[in-house]
Amino acid sequence: MLNNLIFVLNCGSSSIKFSILNPQNKKKYLSGLVECLFLKKTYIKWEYSGVKYKKYIGSYISHEHALNFILNQVLSKEQNLYNNIIGIGHRVVHGGNKINQSVLINDEIISFIEQAIPFAPLHNPANLIGIKIAIEKFPVLSNKNIAVFDTSFYQKMPKTSFLYAIPYIFYKKYHIRRYGAHGISHDYVSHEASIILNKNFSSLNVITCHLGNGCSVAAIRNGVCVDTSMGLTPLEGLVMGTRSGDIDPSIIFFMHQKIGISIDQINTILSKESGLLGLSGISSDFRYLEKNYSSNKDVRLSVDIFCHRLSKYIASYICLMDKHLDAVVFTGGIGENVSLIRQITLSKLHLIGVKIDIEKNMLIKNGKVGLISKNNSIPVLVIPTDEELLIAKKTMKIISSI
Ligand code: ADP
Repeated sequence: MLNNLIFVLNCGSSSIKFSILNPQNKKKYLSGLVECLFLKKTYIKWEYSGVKYKKYIGSYISHEHALNFILNQVLSKEQNLYNNIIGIGHRVVHGGNKINQSVLINDEIISFIEQAIPFAPLHNPANLIGIKIAIEKFPVLSNKNIAVFDTSFYQKMPKTSFLYAIPYIFYKKYHIRRYGAHGISHDYVSHEASIILNKNFSSLNVITCHLGNGCSVAAIRNGVCVDTSMGLTPLEGLVMGTRSGDIDPSIIFFMHQKIGISIDQINTILSKESGLLGLSGISSDFRYLEKNYSSNKDVRLSVDIFCHRLSKYIASYICLMDKHLDAVVFTGGIGENVSLIRQITLSKLHLIGVKIDIEKNMLIKNGKVGLISKNNSIPVLVIPTDEELLIAKKTMKIISSI
């Protein structure tokens, strides 16, 4: 059905994912990715009608340039798709304290997303560029742009999870709290898990691990997310590609007062130079880290620290479950593809009833869904995420109601 198509735009800090799909029959007609924005070589890859394309766009390419390439060189060439787009869905990482669900974008919403930039400084500015260019380039659909927020999934977290132990005034007056991120992905895979496990979502107890460039864990009890590892911003929690995740806050004072590093530099160090990249000294890319795990001791240590932290989070979220845990779910580029990470992490969790099936684990990658635990274990599932599909569904729902 080449009608009722939704164009989904996911502008990340260093990449742009896009697709045109029909959320009703779940068919993706076109999907693509621009990687390595602002680096030496930026490529675009896309798939249309079963054919894969890859093109070099240029050096040090910005979001604006890449978006214009997507619209002028890819989308506009497929007029049959282009003419059947009825709405545009945007992934937005942070809704701040003003927005708690998917919404039709207007000037007020844009201003709320701008106000939330301090809470997602690497992401919300990119999301806003996508919104502004989509409104400009699709004038007919300018009132059919929908923002779908990562933070919406965490709206029902209890205060015990979302408050930091700092003076309460910082929450009351400045809205400093845990907001979480990656909500669209945790939302999608937890619903898929309920289908696979044949359980009502409202009674589902799962721990979902989204492991991509950014990484986070979420605890879902009786279908409600009750805690997550990302905090005020997507910097807290797990070890990530280039982000530090949890650190003692005093490290920041030490770096500033004793080493003389400026606050801006510290921000860059913790966001862009830490995590797997900072620890290994070589790469944040798991395709490289996995290959060199046995031969390079720095790589090995960085991966072991990554798994150590992840296993601690999973184990700690057990105490938030209602009576039992239905499953642990892995997703994201690393969670879906890197059996090494799943094996090291899960082997630390046998005391809480997780028993990995090493052979099954080795076989699950490249978009496969699968169970990687033994029969007598708490089930562990690998479920490829599909944020675009969920964004398209939520976009369609709002478009149909206006
Ligand atoms: P993002 O958070 O930007 O959406 P992804 O979910 O695409 O990121 O995950 C990116 C991470 O996944 C990178 O570390 C990348 O190396 C890793 N990754 C993706 N595919 C593979 C693969 N086939 N094998 C190993 N690692 C992979």
